[in-house]
Amino acid sequence: MNKPHHPHRGLLLMVVAPSGVGKTSLTRRLVADHNDLHLSISATTRDPRPGEHDGRDYHFVSTDKFQGMIQDEAFFEWAEVYGNHYGSPREPIMASLERGESVLFDIDFQGAMKVHAQAQQDSVLVYILPPSLAEMSRRLHARSQDSEEVIHRRLSRAKDEVAAWEQFDYVILNDDFDRAYADLAHIYHAERLKRARNPWIGDLVGDLLQEEI
Ligand code: 5GP
Repeated sequence: MNKPHHPHRGLLLMVVAPSGVGKTSLTRRLVADHNDLHLSISATTRDPRPGEHDGRDYHFVSTDKFQGMIQDEAFFEWAEVYGNHYGSPREPIMASLERGESVLFDIDFQGAMKVHAQAQQDSVLVYILPPSLAEMSRRLHARSQDSEEVIHRRLSRAKDEVAAWEQFDYVILNDDFDRAYADLAHIYHAERLKRARNPWIGDLVGDLLQEEI
């Protein structure tokens, strides 16, 4: 991966999608396949869902604790989503960047825009589209985690977000998981290779130009 003599500038990869589009499976696999990419584990005030673990899926915290973290400026960004609070803890993000590694954010649209506003050069915005809202509705019903009212809210919110697709650097259609994953991995690989993220190239070119021919 990153060779120590090739200093690399990490990127902030934000993957945004309406719920039920397969974002979690795509992002978890990307992180598992790349040891220079770390998932930003958000803090949230919502209750854990069955199968979720504290520290792996989220840091589940009380409202008081969350407010304290806001006061301490411990978040890179935070937002209220469906009545709960979510925030990206600053410290692990900065630590990854200092090591020249990258951070993947599984956050909502407003959070991605806030991160982008703070770090325009370093952030890459990816939106994942469902093949249709009908398919998204079917997937939300199939996972049976949400009430009808919540599903309806998620669908109407998805419509607003999809309308803002031009604010993203890349848009992936998830109608086929393996192809969508390949698209996401290619985006990450190409972004990592960008000249501006590889300052060692300047030194190498300097050396090449000194060579006698
Ligand atoms: P869920 O409760 O379904 O896990 O997440 C609800 C929404 O909150 C999702 O769109 C998710 O991406 C978003 N979210 C999760 N963590 C964060 C965060 O740290 N900041 C922001 N702004 N949104 C987040």
